[in-house]
Amino acid sequence: MSNKTHTVLSSCAAVVIASGAVGCAVVDLSDQAYDDGSGFEEKSLTDTVWPISGSATPQSADDITDSWGPRLLSGNYDFHRGIDIAKPTGTNIYAARDGQIVRMEYPAAGTSLQRFGRFMVIAHDDIGGVKNQTAYLHMSAYADGLEEGDYVEAGDKIGEVGNTGVGINTEHLHFEYYENINSGGIVKSKARSPMKILQPASGSVVPTVTVTKTSTEIAVEIEQEDDKIVVGRIVISPVGASADRTIDLQTGEGLATDWDDPTENDVTIDPDNFNTSSSSQVITYRYAGSWSSLGACDVEIYDVSGTLLYDQTTTF
Ligand SMILES: [Zn+2]
Repeated sequence: MSNKTHTVLSSCAAVVIASGAVGCAVVDLSDQAYDDGSGFEEKSLTDTVWPISGSATPQSADDITDSWGPRLLSGNYDFHRGIDIAKPTGTNIYAARDGQIVRMEYPAAGTSLQRFGRFMVIAHDDIGGVKNQTAYLHMSAYADGLEEGDYVEAGDKIGEVGNTGVGINTEHLHFEYYENINSGGIVKSKARSPMKILQPASGSVVPTVTVTKTSTEIAVEIEQEDDKIVVGRIVISPVGASADRTIDLQTGEGLATDWDDPTENDVTIDPDNFNTSSSSQVITYRYAGSWSSLGACDVEIYDVSGTLLYDQTTTF
Protein backbone atom coordinates (compact mmCIF):
# COMPACT_ATOMS: atom_id res chain seq x y z
CA MET A 1 0.00 0.00 0.00
CA SER A 2 1.19 3.43 -0.83
CA ASN A 3 1.90 5.94 1.90
CA LYS A 4 0.66 8.85 -0.12
CA THR A 5 -1.75 11.11 1.66
CA HIS A 6 -4.97 11.90 -0.06
CA THR A 7 -8.33 13.29 0.65
CA VAL A 8 -10.49 10.33 -0.13
CA LEU A 9 -14.00 11.02 1.03
CA SER A 10 -15.31 14.41 1.91
CA SER A 11 -18.51 12.96 3.26
CA CYS A 12 -20.21 9.64 3.60
CA ALA A 13 -22.72 9.85 0.80
CA ALA A 14 -24.78 6.78 0.05
CA VAL A 15 -23.91 5.62 -3.43
CA VAL A 16 -25.87 3.14 -5.48
CA ILE A 17 -23.51 0.83 -7.28
CA ALA A 18 -24.25 -1.44 -10.20
CA SER A 19 -25.21 -4.42 -8.09
CA GLY A 20 -28.04 -2.41 -6.65
CA ALA A 21 -26.41 -2.37 -3.25
CA VAL A 22 -26.11 0.90 -1.39
CA GLY A 23 -22.71 1.51 0.09
CA CYS A 24 -21.28 4.20 2.27
CA ALA A 25 -17.58 3.75 1.69
CA VAL A 26 -17.79 3.37 -2.08
CA VAL A 27 -16.44 6.37 -3.90
CA ASP A 28 -18.57 7.25 -6.90
CA LEU A 29 -16.08 8.25 -9.57
CA SER A 30 -18.46 7.65 -12.42
CA ASP A 31 -18.31 11.15 -13.78
CA GLN A 32 -14.93 12.36 -12.62
CA ALA A 33 -11.44 11.33 -13.50
CA TYR A 34 -9.57 9.28 -10.96
CA ASP A 35 -6.82 11.40 -9.39
CA ASP A 36 -3.87 9.70 -7.75
CA GLY A 37 -2.72 12.95 -6.20
CA SER A 38 -0.20 13.71 -8.91
CA GLY A 39 -2.68 15.38 -11.20
CA PHE A 40 -4.64 13.79 -14.01
CA GLU A 41 -1.61 12.49 -15.82
CA GLU A 42 -1.94 9.94 -18.54
CA LYS A 43 -0.04 6.76 -17.93
CA SER A 44 1.22 4.37 -20.55
CA LEU A 45 0.55 0.67 -20.90
CA THR A 46 4.03 -0.08 -19.62
CA ASP A 47 2.80 1.06 -16.22
CA THR A 48 0.76 -2.17 -16.01
CA VAL A 49 2.06 -5.31 -14.30
CA TRP A 50 0.73 -8.84 -14.42
CA PRO A 51 -1.31 -9.47 -11.26
CA ILE A 52 0.43 -12.68 -10.17
CA SER A 53 4.10 -12.01 -10.93
CA GLY A 54 3.95 -8.25 -10.43
CA SER A 55 6.11 -7.94 -13.54
CA ALA A 56 5.37 -5.83 -16.63
CA THR A 57 6.55 -8.64 -18.89
CA PRO A 58 4.73 -11.93 -18.37
CA GLN A 59 6.54 -14.60 -16.36
CA SER A 60 5.82 -18.31 -16.13
CA ALA A 61 3.74 -17.56 -13.02
CA ASP A 62 1.34 -15.60 -15.22
CA ASP A 63 0.35 -18.51 -17.46
CA ILE A 64 -3.22 -17.93 -18.57
CA THR A 65 -5.40 -20.98 -18.01
CA ASP A 66 -8.49 -19.47 -19.60
CA SER A 67 -8.38 -16.48 -21.89
CA TRP A 68 -10.83 -13.73 -22.76
CA GLY A 69 -13.71 -14.56 -25.05
CA PRO A 70 -15.84 -17.47 -26.27
CA ARG A 71 -15.31 -20.82 -24.58
CA LEU A 72 -16.92 -24.20 -24.11
CA LEU A 73 -17.14 -25.47 -20.53
CA SER A 74 -18.33 -29.07 -20.29
CA GLY A 75 -20.18 -28.62 -23.55
CA ASN A 76 -21.79 -25.33 -22.55
CA TYR A 77 -20.97 -22.20 -24.54
CA ASP A 78 -20.35 -18.95 -22.72
CA PHE A 79 -18.32 -15.79 -23.02
CA HIS A 80 -15.49 -15.36 -20.53
CA ARG A 81 -15.17 -11.67 -19.61
CA GLY A 82 -11.73 -11.89 -18.07
CA ILE A 83 -8.64 -14.04 -17.89
CA ASP A 84 -7.95 -16.84 -15.42
CA ILE A 85 -4.59 -17.60 -13.88
CA ALA A 86 -4.68 -20.82 -11.85
CA LYS A 87 -2.58 -20.71 -8.69
CA PRO A 88 -2.75 -22.35 -5.25
CA THR A 89 -4.76 -20.67 -2.50
CA GLY A 90 -2.61 -18.10 -0.73
CA THR A 91 -0.60 -17.04 -3.80
CA ASN A 92 -0.10 -13.27 -3.73
CA ILE A 93 -2.16 -11.03 -6.01
CA TYR A 94 -0.74 -7.63 -6.98
CA ALA A 95 -2.39 -4.43 -8.18
CA ALA A 96 -2.01 -4.23 -11.96
CA ARG A 97 -1.74 -0.44 -12.05
CA ASP A 98 -1.55 2.47 -9.62
CA GLY A 99 -4.99 3.34 -8.38
CA GLN A 100 -7.58 3.64 -5.68
CA ILE A 101 -9.53 0.73 -4.24
CA VAL A 102 -13.15 1.58 -4.95
CA ARG A 103 -14.79 -1.68 -4.00
CA MET A 104 -14.12 -4.59 -1.63
CA GLU A 105 -16.98 -7.02 -1.31
CA TYR A 106 -17.80 -10.63 -0.55
CA PRO A 107 -21.35 -11.00 -1.85
CA ALA A 108 -23.74 -13.14 0.13
CA ALA A 109 -25.05 -16.42 -1.25
CA GLY A 110 -28.03 -15.86 -3.51
CA THR A 111 -27.02 -12.36 -4.60
CA SER A 112 -26.23 -11.52 -8.21
CA LEU A 113 -22.47 -11.34 -7.77
CA GLN A 114 -22.19 -14.44 -5.57
CA ARG A 115 -19.99 -16.15 -8.16
CA PHE A 116 -17.38 -13.38 -7.79
CA GLY A 117 -16.53 -14.53 -4.28
CA ARG A 118 -14.34 -12.11 -2.36
CA PHE A 119 -13.38 -9.43 -4.88
CA MET A 120 -11.78 -6.02 -5.26
CA VAL A 121 -12.07 -3.26 -7.87
CA ILE A 122 -9.32 -0.67 -8.37
CA ALA A 123 -9.86 2.58 -10.31
CA HIS A 124 -6.88 3.79 -12.35
CA ASP A 125 -5.69 6.89 -14.17
CA ASP A 126 -7.29 7.32 -17.58
CA ILE A 127 -5.57 5.65 -20.51
CA GLY A 128 -5.85 7.71 -23.68
CA GLY A 129 -8.63 9.71 -22.05
CA VAL A 130 -10.56 6.56 -21.19
CA LYS A 131 -11.65 5.86 -17.62
CA ASN A 132 -10.78 2.34 -16.53
CA GLN A 133 -10.72 -0.08 -13.64
CA THR A 134 -9.50 -3.60 -12.89
CA ALA A 135 -11.24 -6.32 -10.85
CA TYR A 136 -9.80 -9.29 -8.98
CA LEU A 137 -12.13 -12.20 -8.19
CA HIS A 138 -12.31 -15.37 -6.07
CA MET A 139 -9.79 -14.14 -3.47
CA SER A 140 -9.18 -16.15 -0.29
CA ALA A 141 -8.11 -13.00 1.59
CA TYR A 142 -7.38 -9.31 1.20
CA ALA A 143 -3.95 -7.99 2.06
CA ASP A 144 -3.79 -6.91 5.70
CA GLY A 145 -5.01 -3.42 6.43
CA LEU A 146 -6.48 -2.55 3.04
CA GLU A 147 -9.76 -0.67 2.97
CA GLU A 148 -11.95 0.90 0.35
CA GLY A 149 -10.58 4.32 -0.50
CA ASP A 150 -6.94 3.28 -0.03
CA TYR A 151 -4.44 4.03 -2.78
CA VAL A 152 -2.18 1.29 -4.09
CA GLU A 153 0.66 1.25 -6.56
CA ALA A 154 1.27 -1.22 -9.39
CA GLY A 155 2.87 -4.29 -7.83
CA ASP A 156 1.51 -3.74 -4.30
CA LYS A 157 0.05 -6.88 -2.75
CA ILE A 158 -3.73 -6.56 -2.55
CA GLY A 159 -4.81 -10.09 -1.68
CA GLU A 160 -4.40 -13.82 -2.16
CA VAL A 161 -5.68 -16.36 -4.67
CA GLY A 162 -8.59 -18.55 -3.60
CA ASN A 163 -11.72 -20.21 -4.92
CA THR A 164 -14.45 -18.15 -3.26
CA GLY A 165 -17.66 -17.77 -5.24
CA VAL A 166 -18.86 -20.20 -7.81
CA GLY A 167 -17.61 -20.77 -11.32
CA ILE A 168 -15.31 -23.49 -12.55
CA ASN A 169 -14.55 -24.03 -8.87
CA THR A 170 -10.80 -24.22 -9.01
CA GLU A 171 -8.25 -22.06 -7.27
CA HIS A 172 -7.51 -19.19 -9.61
CA LEU A 173 -7.45 -15.45 -10.04
CA HIS A 174 -10.11 -14.21 -12.45
CA PHE A 175 -8.87 -10.80 -13.60
CA GLU A 176 -11.08 -8.26 -15.36
CA TYR A 177 -10.52 -4.94 -17.07
CA TYR A 178 -13.24 -2.33 -17.69
CA GLU A 179 -13.31 0.83 -19.79
CA ASN A 180 -15.50 3.95 -19.50
CA ILE A 181 -16.14 3.24 -15.85
CA ASN A 182 -14.06 3.59 -12.67
CA SER A 183 -16.73 3.66 -9.98
CA GLY A 184 -16.41 0.00 -9.04
CA GLY A 185 -19.62 -0.87 -10.85
CA ILE A 186 -19.75 -4.24 -12.58
CA VAL A 187 -21.19 -3.52 -16.02
CA LYS A 188 -20.81 -6.41 -18.47
CA SER A 189 -20.89 -4.23 -21.57
CA LYS A 190 -17.92 -2.24 -20.33
CA ALA A 191 -15.66 -5.27 -19.76
CA ARG A 192 -12.75 -5.42 -22.20
CA SER A 193 -9.94 -7.86 -22.77
CA PRO A 194 -7.27 -7.48 -20.08
CA MET A 195 -4.81 -7.95 -22.94
CA LYS A 196 -5.55 -4.30 -23.79
CA ILE A 197 -3.33 -3.37 -20.84
CA LEU A 198 -1.16 -6.46 -20.31
CA GLN A 199 1.84 -7.33 -22.43
CA PRO A 200 1.46 -10.70 -24.16
CA ALA A 201 4.26 -13.26 -24.15
CA SER A 202 7.12 -12.42 -26.48
CA GLY A 203 6.96 -13.53 -30.08
CA SER A 204 4.36 -13.16 -32.80
CA VAL A 205 0.76 -12.70 -31.70
CA VAL A 206 -0.57 -13.41 -35.19
CA PRO A 207 -2.84 -16.47 -34.94
CA THR A 208 -2.86 -19.45 -37.28
CA VAL A 209 -5.90 -19.09 -39.52
CA THR A 210 -7.43 -21.80 -41.72
CA VAL A 211 -10.38 -20.95 -43.97
CA THR A 212 -12.39 -23.76 -45.55
CA LYS A 213 -15.76 -23.97 -47.30
CA THR A 214 -18.61 -26.35 -48.00
CA SER A 215 -21.76 -25.56 -50.00
CA THR A 216 -23.46 -24.39 -46.78
CA GLU A 217 -20.70 -23.07 -44.56
CA ILE A 218 -17.56 -20.96 -44.48
CA ALA A 219 -15.39 -22.11 -41.58
CA VAL A 220 -12.70 -19.76 -40.21
CA GLU A 221 -10.56 -21.64 -37.70
CA ILE A 222 -8.34 -19.47 -35.49
CA GLU A 223 -5.70 -21.15 -33.36
CA GLN A 224 -3.42 -19.39 -30.89
CA GLU A 225 -1.25 -19.99 -27.87
CA ASP A 226 -3.08 -19.00 -24.66
CA ASP A 227 -0.53 -16.41 -23.60
CA LYS A 228 -0.63 -14.63 -26.96
CA ILE A 229 -4.38 -14.38 -27.50
CA VAL A 230 -5.06 -10.79 -28.45
CA VAL A 231 -7.75 -11.32 -31.11
CA GLY A 232 -10.41 -8.63 -30.79
CA ARG A 233 -12.30 -8.41 -34.06
CA ILE A 234 -12.86 -10.74 -36.99
CA VAL A 235 -14.26 -9.65 -40.36
CA ILE A 236 -15.34 -12.40 -42.78
CA SER A 237 -15.89 -11.14 -46.34
CA PRO A 238 -17.09 -13.65 -48.95
CA VAL A 239 -15.64 -12.16 -52.14
CA GLY A 240 -18.31 -10.77 -54.44
CA ALA A 241 -21.15 -11.65 -52.09
CA SER A 242 -21.67 -8.30 -50.29
CA ALA A 243 -22.35 -10.23 -47.12
CA ASP A 244 -19.56 -9.27 -44.75
CA ARG A 245 -19.85 -10.38 -41.15
CA THR A 246 -18.03 -8.67 -38.27
CA ILE A 247 -17.60 -10.33 -34.89
CA ASP A 248 -16.17 -7.93 -32.30
CA LEU A 249 -15.24 -9.74 -29.09
CA GLN A 250 -15.06 -6.50 -27.13
CA THR A 251 -17.89 -4.24 -28.26
CA GLY A 252 -20.22 -7.17 -28.91
CA GLU A 253 -20.88 -6.26 -32.55
CA GLY A 254 -22.00 -9.46 -34.27
CA LEU A 255 -22.64 -11.21 -30.96
CA ALA A 256 -26.06 -12.25 -29.70
CA THR A 257 -27.67 -9.85 -27.23
CA ASP A 258 -26.66 -11.75 -24.10
CA TRP A 259 -23.24 -12.71 -25.54
CA ASP A 260 -23.80 -16.23 -24.22
CA ASP A 261 -25.57 -17.53 -27.33
CA PRO A 262 -23.06 -18.74 -29.94
CA THR A 263 -25.16 -17.88 -33.00
CA GLU A 264 -25.96 -14.44 -34.42
CA ASN A 265 -26.63 -13.30 -37.97
CA ASP A 266 -25.82 -16.74 -39.50
CA VAL A 267 -22.42 -16.92 -37.77
CA THR A 268 -21.93 -19.58 -35.08
CA ILE A 269 -18.93 -19.37 -32.75
CA ASP A 270 -17.64 -22.88 -32.13
CA PRO A 271 -14.81 -23.07 -29.57
CA ASP A 272 -12.99 -26.28 -28.80
CA ASN A 273 -13.80 -27.62 -25.33
CA PHE A 274 -11.94 -25.78 -22.56
CA ASN A 275 -8.93 -27.74 -21.43
CA THR A 276 -6.67 -26.44 -18.66
CA SER A 277 -3.77 -28.62 -19.78
CA SER A 278 -3.77 -27.25 -23.33
CA SER A 279 -1.54 -24.26 -24.01
CA SER A 280 -3.45 -23.22 -27.10
CA GLN A 281 -7.00 -22.37 -28.01
CA VAL A 282 -8.98 -23.13 -31.18
CA ILE A 283 -12.16 -21.25 -32.09
CA THR A 284 -13.99 -21.81 -35.38
CA TYR A 285 -16.36 -19.16 -36.74
CA ARG A 286 -18.96 -20.92 -38.94
CA TYR A 287 -20.81 -18.70 -41.40
CA ALA A 288 -23.90 -20.45 -42.79
CA GLY A 289 -25.08 -19.62 -46.30
CA SER A 290 -25.39 -20.83 -49.87
CA TRP A 291 -21.76 -20.90 -50.82
CA SER A 292 -21.71 -23.40 -53.72
CA SER A 293 -20.48 -20.84 -56.20
CA LEU A 294 -18.27 -18.83 -53.83
CA GLY A 295 -14.73 -18.67 -55.17
CA ALA A 296 -12.87 -16.84 -52.42
CA CYS A 297 -13.21 -15.34 -48.94
CA ASP A 298 -11.24 -12.56 -47.29
CA VAL A 299 -10.61 -12.62 -43.55
CA GLU A 300 -9.30 -9.72 -41.50
CA ILE A 301 -8.36 -10.06 -37.85
CA TYR A 302 -7.65 -7.10 -35.56
CA ASP A 303 -6.13 -7.24 -32.10
CA VAL A 304 -7.86 -5.96 -28.95
CA SER A 305 -6.51 -2.46 -29.58
CA GLY A 306 -7.62 -2.34 -33.22
CA THR A 307 -4.32 -3.13 -34.93
CA LEU A 308 -4.64 -5.29 -38.06
CA LEU A 309 -3.02 -8.67 -37.35
CA TYR A 310 -4.06 -10.72 -40.33
CA ASP A 311 -5.53 -9.99 -43.78
CA GLN A 312 -5.62 -12.75 -46.35
CA THR A 313 -7.88 -13.96 -49.12
CA THR A 314 -8.38 -17.71 -49.38
CA THR A 315 -9.29 -19.09 -52.80
CA PHE A 316 -11.42 -22.21 -52.83
ZN1 LIG B 1 -12.58 -16.63 -15.10
